[in-house]
Amino acid sequence: VMILAIESSCDETAAAVVKNGREVLSNVISSQIDLHTLYGGVVPEIASRKHMEKINQVIKEALAEADCSLEALDAIAVTYGPGLVGALLVGVAEAKAISYAAGKPLVGVHHIEGHVSANFIEHKNLEPPFLCLIVSGGHTHLVIVKEYGVYEIIGKTRDDAAGEAFDKVARAIGLGYPGGPKIDRLAKEGNKTAVSFPRANLEGCPYDFSFSGVKSAVLNHLNSCAMKKEEVNTADIAASFQEAVVDALVTKTMAAAREYKMKQVAIAGGVAANSALREAMDMACQKNGLTLYYPSPIYCTDNAAMIGAAAYYEYLKGTRHGLDLNAVPNLKIGQR
Ligand code: ATP
Ligand code: MG
Ligand code: FE
Repeated sequence: VMILAIESSCDETAAAVVKNGREVLSNVISSQIDLHTLYGGVVPEIASRKHMEKINQVIKEALAEADCSLEALDAIAVTYGPGLVGALLVGVAEAKAISYAAGKPLVGVHHIEGHVSANFIEHKNLEPPFLCLIVSGGHTHLVIVKEYGVYEIIGKTRDDAAGEAFDKVARAIGLGYPGGPKIDRLAKEGNKTAVSFPRANLEGCPYDFSFSGVKSAVLNHLNSCAMKKEEVNTADIAASFQEAVVDALVTKTMAAAREYKMKQVAIAGGVAANSALREAMDMACQKNGLTLYYPSPIYCTDNAAMIGAAAYYEYLKGTRHGLDLNAVPNLKIGQR
């Protein structure tokens, strides 16, 4: 089964050709990061316009690189939510046009289910059930992947997403957008025990997360240093903040694996590229006799190959969307 997948939910315009869900024949990503860096974050109007400019070229490249014609495709897959409505619409309209013109079925995909499915690409033996920690720019969820495309959400963030916390703290210490990779790099030069930032404990909801507290603690720390005219060591702050976030993520994931008797654990989303999180998860899973899966960094952040992987299992189940498919900015996991 050959699928052309299209992704435009945020600030990367991406297309990929994926065979049988796990074999990536091409994975083209045009990132708008340089453009949005000027404004310190993603500007929705600019994102939509850039997607319009790039999408045809990106799709052409993906097909050419895969040496695949439109006739050879079995389906056109596209992210239809969640994300920025104007950005999503560009991909959805494009996918509908190709689907209609080429006479190929259309499969709409949930962006976050795509992030989870990124794990299938490089781990040919990974099959549900498994526990997945989703940590992206806009989401932080602990889910049980019961079957392909069947999710049980057991925990989520009450406020900021993990990636959002990284981005906000990065801005506060002057690193710019996107902050995650920059904190990751700077933290390697810092002492993670320099400052003890709080870990949220949510009474009665052991698998929920909260990152606004640690973010505020970082801001308060910076303010109090400024008041006392103390020099701030930004590498120490980056390392200590990252440690607090990673500790919360790992502790709750391990507790969930234990309670739900999961033997396999996966991580997904942009923050899954974080080197400290990968290392700490590796150690914790080893200690607890669990098998850990994570995608290569290029499949952690937004890409279309992961959408092709998720679409394959939807395609097999018979999921088809009509030409009335619309962008759904707040699409829920498991919603069809
Ligand atoms: P969502 O997937 O929730 O809709 P998004 O698509 O914007 O949001 P992703 O592309 O999955 O998010 O991930 C981007 C996020 O990942 C950003 O917040 C970025 O700072 C973070 N990130 C990327 N690399 C790293 C890293 N090495 N360490 C920590 N965070 C990282
Ligand atoms: Mg992005
Ligand atoms: Fe994403």
